[in-house]
Amino acid sequence: MTGRRTVRIYGNWKMHKGPEEALDFFQKWSLPPAGNRCECGIAPPFVSLVPLVHLAKEKGLKLGAQNCHFEEKGAFTGEISAFMLKEMGVHFVILGHSERRLLFGEDSFFIAKKLRAALQAGLEVVLCVGETLEEREQGREKEVVSEMLNASLGDVTRDEIVERITIAYEPVWAIGTGRNATPGQAGEMHAFIREVIDERYGAGTGTQVTVQYGGSVKPSNVEELASVEDIDGFLVGGASLETETFADIIEKTLMVKQLR
Ligand code: PEP
Repeated sequence: MTGRRTVRIYGNWKMHKGPEEALDFFQKWSLPPAGNRCECGIAPPFVSLVPLVHLAKEKGLKLGAQNCHFEEKGAFTGEISAFMLKEMGVHFVILGHSERRLLFGEDSFFIAKKLRAALQAGLEVVLCVGETLEEREQGREKEVVSEMLNASLGDVTRDEIVERITIAYEPVWAIGTGRNATPGQAGEMHAFIREVIDERYGAGTGTQVTVQYGGSVKPSNVEELASVEDIDGFLVGGASLETETFADIIEKTLMVKQLR
């Protein structure tokens, strides 16, 4: 891996695990941190962030949020700002997840506003992009991913994308379906994402950006996916809910990436 690229393996718990269950997971967590070329973390529901801040530090896990609002404060009932997340010790925020795009109507321009706010607040960002099955069947997957990426990045600078943003390629048809992208499909899209970044920020930038894969990652398919050079780690949904399964995914990735 070149430049600032890091192996990042993050769990997205979605709307699972309230404070008690979340604490139980963290208390059981025993995998030691893997050094500075690898970062592992969990994005629990908002209400479970507070009790986890100290334990996360102790266990060497990065704590993430699954969403944030783009304003710092104000009359936005039900929202939580990036600044509030930073203040309480959150490290990263997931933006542009397909569930936010498809179920909550978030478009890339809205996501770009949140991304700017998150960076301003001092958070790192996992920016998700990915095509639907229909778009892939129409042969439009690269066009769709390139459009999403360009619009969601907004005014992000070269330094910001290299230092503070992880791109997560998450084909919608692979999320929560048990059907992962093949190493060939994922590898091709990861290489393409690096090309889009090169076009936007200059040759050589793409190889320096961390690009994760997400979509039905589990212990049985993680090694073949991790063996693709362009895949720097994973955003894991369902399989991050059990300590043993998530730890297995991390261990196998580290072995393949020769970090253990
Ligand atoms: C996700 O929601 O980001 C995800 C990748 O889910 P799963 O691993 O369950 O497919």
